Amino acid sequence: MNRRRMLNALKSPDEFGQYADEAVLPEDTDPQVYLSHNRLPQPFHLLCEKDSVISQLSGTVDVYLHDSSVNRFRVTVGDHVYIPAGTPHRIVPREPGVTLRYMALEAGLLGAAWYCASCGGELRRYEWEHDNAVAPARFYAAACARFNADKAARTCESCATVHEEIDLDAYAWTELAAAEG
Ligand SMILES: [Zn+2]
Repeated sequence: MNRRRMLNALKSPDEFGQYADEAVLPEDTDPQVYLSHNRLPQPFHLLCEKDSVISQLSGTVDVYLHDSSVNRFRVTVGDHVYIPAGTPHRIVPREPGVTLRYMALEAGLLGAAWYCASCGGELRRYEWEHDNAVAPARFYAAACARFNADKAARTCESCATVHEEIDLDAYAWTELAAAEG
């Protein structure tokens, strides 16, 4: 393992930020492994164009899948959950812990999506091309900031329920979102 990356993985949770998905293996490793220290629920569903796998290094999470016959997986240390390509999924920690995400090096399109809390209808999704040179959390922060800024996007067309704004500070994403413009 690349020494610099190895040291990155040993940074404290506060340095990482939640859902940082920092790459921990040498940069040409396929699949790449992404590490996050998570405490709060992931504030969106993630979509990956290709298959991916989630596992836990510590702690326990529930992974909620949308558009899937199985709606929830409990994932604890040593478990692996296979996420089929294109399946929106959201991590909800039951206790703080470290989540690993295995993704193809050429990951293609990723996206963030939100669903109505009342009727389950899709509110909005934003997509971007995965870039190995850019921290994934930059894209997450930008997507959340865009969602916050657009009340129409947060309002359900079917039942008019309004999704609350995401607290970017709670995820240490305020600066990231600003940097993204
Ligand atoms: Zn609705």
